[in-house]
Amino acid sequence: MLISPVEFFRTLPKKVCPECGQQVHEQAESYFLECDRCLSKKMEE
Ligand SMILES: [Zn+2]
Repeated sequence: MLISPVEFFRTLPKKVCPECGQQVHEQAESYFLECDRCLSKKMEE
């Protein structure tokens, strides 16, 4: 059965932070995988 491209992207799994497993909101200009919290934690180190 064929799935339309629209349906395909709609069913893609949400991006999840590899550090804490929290759902990450896609940011157009951001290529970071981590969520804001883990990202700022890394910046402090
Ligand atoms: Zn995180």
